[in-house]
Amino acid sequence: MSKTTADVVVIGAGIAGASVAAALAQTQDVIVLERESFPGMHSTGRSAALFSEIYGSGPIRALSRASRKFLYSPPQGFADAAIVRPRGAMHIASAAQLAKLEAFCALPDVAPAIRRLTAAQARAECPILQEDYIAGAAVETGSADVDVDVLHQGWLRQLKARGGELLVNAEVVRLSRQPTGWLVETPDAQIEARVVINAAGAWADVVARLAGVKTVGLQPNRRTALIVSAPEGSNSDEWPMVIDVDEQFYFRPDAGALLLSPGDETPSDPCDAQPEELDIAIAVDRVQGATTLEVHRIRRSWAGLRSFVADRSPVVGYAPDAPGFFWLAGQGGYGIQTAPAMGALACALVLGQSTPDDLAQFGVNADDLRPGRFIESLASAQDD
Ligand SMILES: Cc1cc2nc3c(=O)[nH]c(=O)nc-3n(C[C@H](O)[C@H](O)[C@H](O)COP(=O)(O)OP(=O)(O)OC[C@H]3O[C@@H](n4cnc5c(N)ncnc54)[C@H](O)[C@@H]3O)c2cc1C
Repeated sequence: MSKTTADVVVIGAGIAGASVAAALAQTQDVIVLERESFPGMHSTGRSAALFSEIYGSGPIRALSRASRKFLYSPPQGFADAAIVRPRGAMHIASAAQLAKLEAFCALPDVAPAIRRLTAAQARAECPILQEDYIAGAAVETGSADVDVDVLHQGWLRQLKARGGELLVNAEVVRLSRQPTGWLVETPDAQIEARVVINAAGAWADVVARLAGVKTVGLQPNRRTALIVSAPEGSNSDEWPMVIDVDEQFYFRPDAGALLLSPGDETPSDPCDAQPEELDIAIAVDRVQGATTLEVHRIRRSWAGLRSFVADRSPVVGYAPDAPGFFWLAGQGGYGIQTAPAMGALACALVLGQSTPDDLAQFGVNADDLRPGRFIESLASAQDD
């Protein structure tokens, strides 16, 4: 068994762990521990890869706005391909959903980001929408597809170039407090570190329990996605992503095919999530109900976990009950599009700094994300 020291150990090499590790490696000795044989096997490798500034809670939208610059103009040498490709995100409503669409479009941070479309205009942008289904739409003009692998690998390369280390097949099985930090143990290694960052995705509460730290009530929810053929002869690559205003389904072009999802949120234990036949059938049924698409074969399907705490905003900051234990969890369905700002914010907070100005100007406020907001309420509920 090898024994070593580091300033910071990051648990989990998904997009969250990779982004904060790369940022911290500029000034700290950083080791990232990943249980799987490669980084990105769980939520990070299973997303729908949307960047949208009007998706999610207020704090999520602020983090997304603050991430735009990095995604569109990454630092020199960060990536050898574009991270984003612009693609409108079109929110659609049937006649029964028009009031919902109106309310959504009137939200202060939604209104300036969208263009309203009549049903005919929506059908011009996505011709498979059925004439007798769609009643109104609004398209976000600044949204994009994200190349998640380019983004993720960019941070992992940066980590290495800055002297950081990534260990795979390295599950953290024990965490014990030391006088000056933590002893982190995997089956093959012991690492003493001043700071431990919990970026374990759906397993973040499991890791907290290992450390004897109060949990934040994280709930992983399964979401299903599948790939089907686009209609023959269609110009589908140019279509927007189409999202039901109640998020009961969405679909988007994907390398000449179409990605469909039923927008499911089925509570799950943390696990290697697998798609259920029923959810696949629901996705096909809902998309076929709104479009002229005819699905004859499912080319591929998968599921992944979107993990939320009660207010559906992330949990970022030191645990109030355990010095040196830092939370970076609860990214829900937005962990890709918010990763640049989350990595930068987490780096600053780990180093004892406040919210950086270039994030604060977009409305990012570390107070909205502090772990204490749950730990305190859970503790008082337990006391009652
Ligand atoms: C179907 C679907 C669609 C989505 N669409 C979008 C989207 O369009 N836009 C968007 O921004 N987001 C989207 N998301 C959400 C996004 O994928 C997640 O928010 C993000 O990937 C979370 O990243 P993470 O690094 O926290 O978690 P993960 O990628 O799950 O990484 C956590 C890592 O921790 C490791 N780990 C856990 N326990 C231990 C341990 N004890 N020791 C060592 N390692 C451990 C795990 O193996 C895992 O690799 C979607 C998710 C799904 C499932």
